[in-house]
Amino acid sequence: MSGAHIGVLALQGDVREHLAALSAVGADPVPVRRRSELDAVDALLIPGGESTTISHLLRELELADPLRARLADGMPAYGSCAGMILLASEILDAGAQGRAAIPLSGIDMAVRRNAFGRQVDSFEGDVDFEGLDEPVHAVFIRAPWVERIGSGVAVLAEAAGHPVAVRQGRVLATSFHPEVTGDRRIHRLFVDIVAGRA
Ligand code: GLN
Repeated sequence: MSGAHIGVLALQGDVREHLAALSAVGADPVPVRRRSELDAVDALLIPGGESTTISHLLRELELADPLRARLADGMPAYGSCAGMILLASEILDAGAQGRAAIPLSGIDMAVRRNAFGRQVDSFEGDVDFEGLDEPVHAVFIRAPWVERIGSGVAVLAEAAGHPVAVRQGRVLATSFHPEVTGDRRIHRLFVDIVAGRA
């Protein structure tokens, strides 16, 4: 796809799967590991993995403040699972002090880490997704859920009585992992959001 350059934050987690999924829907994504790479992209996908580990690496690499600044400046972004946690403005059960997940404030919401995981580590199920005709087969792996949203935030999908997909402007987040199912509709939605088509 010509036009916007989409990066995938490549510190830890499902990086390869997201690069492949974005490529499959016509984007030409690049891994982002350093400041110069962040500065060069127009949009960023933050993959699932472990939000405390990704946060530790963001601190070590001095990427947390630049990333928060890009989001405040309106950079389109998509976060899946750990990525959803990092895009929140408030993180509940954020992890041990000094190692806690960092809220980068891409979306005005409070997200609880490992929310489902207190009962069951991982599960999957079909969820209705706003704007898509057929449900999405959602895979939840030690997933977060959303406990509070600001007035500008749209809920796109719910599970267990909580939002599990949300959008605020050009920032999208899902608790689940579309990169593992072969269903490319969420990645296509993100590419369309970046291109101003959705
Ligand atoms: N529980 C993980 C975290 O806190 C998220 C799990 C995932 O991304 N699959 O970051």
